[in-house]
Formats: sequence, structure tokens, C-alpha cells
Amino acid sequence: MKRALIIIALFLGVSRLSVAQGEQNLVQAAMEALTAATLSDAQVAQLSRQAVVEMDAKNPVAGPNDPYTLRLNKIVSRHRTVSGLPINYKVYMVPDVNAFATADGSVRVFKGLMDIMSDSELLAIMGHEIGHVVNKDSRDAMKSALRRSAVRNVAAANSGVIGKLSRSQVGGLVDGYFGASFSRQQETEADDYSYDFLKRNGYSVMALATSFEKLAKLNGGNQSNKVTAILSSHPDSKSRAERVRTRARRDGLAK
Ligand SMILES: [Zn+2]
Repeated sequence: MKRALIIIALFLGVSRLSVAQGEQNLVQAAMEALTAATLSDAQVAQLSRQAVVEMDAKNPVAGPNDPYTLRLNKIVSRHRTVSGLPINYKVYMVPDVNAFATADGSVRVFKGLMDIMSDSELLAIMGHEIGHVVNKDSRDAMKSALRRSAVRNVAAANSGVIGKLSRSQVGGLVDGYFGASFSRQQETEADDYSYDFLKRNGYSVMALATSFEKLAKLNGGNQSNKVTAILSSHPDSKSRAERVRTRARRDGLAK
């Protein structure tokens, strides 16, 4: 079994050295992935962290002195911890209009999104993505991806006969996690989380509405496929913007 677990670690982009260093925890988390239906939040966070490590390795990450990093750091300077969750932020120098947050508290913002959004709109979008983490949507997405990718190995693991995990199965875990789409209710709740986050911190809640309206406009226009990433996982931008505006009017915050 241990061999298969290390194969998982390697496919998730971990070096042999770090596998050795973190072996105990990683083996424990991956064992759960293979053999058990129940995973602790800490184990899900750890696997999510490994998935982000792979994403970071695949994408050009802006350096510490890059203007995009400096801008993002300034925007999030008050928000290194959100709802008790420590967040680490990075910029991908990729033209896609996209951002995501993962169950371990990693937030990744794409250059293409930063190019079209104001600072407060970026906070609104990051607030929404962090909302998925705080609301445990991201945890559930990882669990679901694990079930789909590992299910065929469970029987072999339990019988002590480990067939090798194919690259596509492990790739399926990472793709399944990052490709997860949330339910309409989860999206609404993440919107509400962002609204409350903006309100609580003294920002204009209208940034949430205008960010959605920008996305809706891109969606309606004849744009390149670089702008579709966040839209495919977040449909109905226009109606969601209207919902935010309605709530803001009711709260006397529509200005
Ligand atoms: Zn969402």
C-alpha cells in the first residue's frame, strides 16, 4: 500500500525529499483517500495543499516583487486571516479571467482577472471564493473528486493487492477538484458570504454586483476563450448581480 501512496504523492507534484519529510502525514491522508469514506477536514486540507502545489508548479507564479504581487498584497493586507482561516495568496501570470480558493486556504488570482477588476471588485471575488472554503464547499469538492478518482482502487487497497494508480486516475483527482462546479445554492451562499465580508470590513458591497456585471458583459461579448474559466463555473452572473443590488438597496448600501 505504501508504494501506491508515494506514487500519489509524486503525481501530485511533491519531490521525493518533501515526500520523505511529510511522509507520515501524507501517507495517513492518502490512506484515508484510498480506503475510507470519511476524511477529516485536516486531511482534506492537506490533499488540497498538494493539489495547489501542483497547480503552482504548472502555472507561472508572479514573483514577490512583481507589480501584480505587490498590488494583490496591498489589497489583501488586512485579510491574511479570514473567518479564522489563514490565507496564502498568489498571482498566476496567465491571461485567463479566473480565481480560485482551495480547502487549505490558498487563493490564486489570475492576471487576466486583475487586469479587468478594480481592487474592491477583486476583494469581492476573492471573498466569494473564500466563502466556498469557509462554507466547506471546497472540502466537499475534494471529497467528491477523491471518491471519483480513487473508487476503483479501494477494492484493491482493501484486499492488499495494489495495482498501480494510473496517471490519469491521479490527474483525475486534481482535475476533478479544480473542475468542480458548485450548486446554485452553494453559489448563492458564497455570494452572501462575500457580501457580508465586504460589509463587515467597510467596503462597498456594490463591488460584488459590478464584478458580476463585468463578467456577464464578457460572457455576452465575443471574447476569446481566455475569459471563460470563471464564467463556466459561475453562470448567471447577471441575475446574481441583480440579487446583490436588491439586497444592497434593502440594506441602504446601494451607492
Ligand atoms: Zn462560486
